[in-house]
Amino acid sequence: MNAPAKTVCPPLPDYHTHTRLCHHARGTPAEYRAAAALRGLPALAITDHAPNPVGYDPENRMGMADFRAYQEMLRPLRDNLAPAALYGVEADYHEGCEAYLPAWLRSQPFDIVLGSVHQIRNWDFDDPDQLGDWARVEVEAVWRKYFELVARMADTGWFDVAGHLDLPKKFGHRLRDDVLREIAAPALDALARAGMAVEINTSGLRKLVAEMYPSPLLLEMARERGIALSFGSDAHRPEDVGADFDKALALASAAGYTEHAVYRARRRTLMPLPDAV
Ligand SMILES: [Zn+2]
Ligand SMILES: [Zn+2]
Repeated sequence: MNAPAKTVCPPLPDYHTHTRLCHHARGTPAEYRAAAALRGLPALAITDHAPNPVGYDPENRMGMADFRAYQEMLRPLRDNLAPAALYGVEADYHEGCEAYLPAWLRSQPFDIVLGSVHQIRNWDFDDPDQLGDWARVEVEAVWRKYFELVARMADTGWFDVAGHLDLPKKFGHRLRDDVLREIAAPALDALARAGMAVEINTSGLRKLVAEMYPSPLLLEMARERGIALSFGSDAHRPEDVGADFDKALALASAAGYTEHAVYRARRRTLMPLPDAV
């Protein structure tokens, strides 16, 4: 592992990290935790892409058979040392997930479950290998369908935090603010009703769009609805743990947030935001 430089980082938990088991990330939970310790983070959640038995995107998800390895890599981290390492998962809300996902999530003693939409009608719209498909679709229609799925995801009640809330902007496909506001409002209403949090996900800064998820507009809409906030780097390599959390904290404060969500055994408590570093 390339150790991250010991940079000053606000003491916020990083609730979105991956592992090598999903086939498109590097590192083990222990390496992510070591990176979190180096950066002075109080906690992290390992939230790798959930496995599934229905053949959904197997190139980018851990297999069902890998899940035992996931649990075994995490088990030694369930000690009382700092930073706390939470048992999490990023689960996709996708067509056909009803057949397995709610029962599977209930069967595991997770601390935190991220819910994400990465696919619209069998199209992995955020996959760089499928970027060309954006030329064949109407951008506004993609956003509409996307936020319909986010609203349906919230309505299930299966998830704690909505991952990267405006993911369709990843490659720069953006909407005018007034259009985005109208399209996203029902999804944000659903997230508020469900008691789900949203995350500030700093990985957008490392993508073409060069902006965190969600945009300042959407974050403000979330705050207006009393939606709680968590923080995630979406690290796919240990050195990205806590990346740009100083900018994430500034974005949260600018949107009017004063607290952030802390999870344990899928129960949420709110803590004051730390001071800027
Ligand atoms: Zn990933
Ligand atoms: Zn994701």
